[in-house]
Amino acid sequence: MKIAIDGPAGAGKSATAKALAKALDFIYVDTGALYRGIGLYVLRKGAKPSAIEEVVPLLAEINIEMRHIDGEQHIFLNGEDVSGFIRTEAVSSAASDVSAIPAVRDFLFDMQRDIAEKNDVVMDGRDIGTVVLPDAELKIFLTAKPETRAERRVKQLAEKGVVESFDDVLADVIQRDYNDSHREFRPLKLAEDGILMDNTELPLEETVNKIITLAKERRA
Ligand code: C5P
Repeated sequence: MKIAIDGPAGAGKSATAKALAKALDFIYVDTGALYRGIGLYVLRKGAKPSAIEEVVPLLAEINIEMRHIDGEQHIFLNGEDVSGFIRTEAVSSAASDVSAIPAVRDFLFDMQRDIAEKNDVVMDGRDIGTVVLPDAELKIFLTAKPETRAERRVKQLAEKGVVESFDDVLADVIQRDYNDSHREFRPLKLAEDGILMDNTELPLEETVNKIITLAKERRA
């Protein structure tokens, strides 16, 4: 079974998808980490993430892998575990920029399809229900108010030891939402058969329970 969780930054997709995967004994796939891995590589090379002509030639140098270690997803960039380096605001913004480049999206497409073909997955991202897994049995579009999403993001970053101000994170959330939903190629949008869920007022556990109920109905 494939469950797609799409939505804007900070909507609680990863916490929801992780809890869901655990409850259903599925594999959780955080596709944003792949775009972050590419964003990180581009920054390390001193290239401009929004410049197609600078980013595309770098793709040939990139080998990106996703491995699950003790139930946690790790991202390996040319053999190096970069999971600890991809959560900064600089990398978030680079990921958003590179993700608008069609060659980057194509580069990561097969890998995402492949993992979903071999496993029961809960996959989170921006175009999972619309492009990567159009055949997913359940497609959720998770969202919440921008301020709520920024607050959550600040907390999430703090738990990882990354300190960012609320204003900076809110500005980033708004900018990334705009970029993600306005890019020409495969923008963030609700799938035709997707279910819109606003969790501004809905605690994580209730969001997860609601989706579990839907998943069970779809599986039956
Ligand atoms: O989900 P996360 O915030 O880690 O994603 C980082 C960036 O990667 C997003 O802002 C988005 O631009 C891009 N992304 C995407 N498609 C996905 C997952 C992430 O374009 N499936």
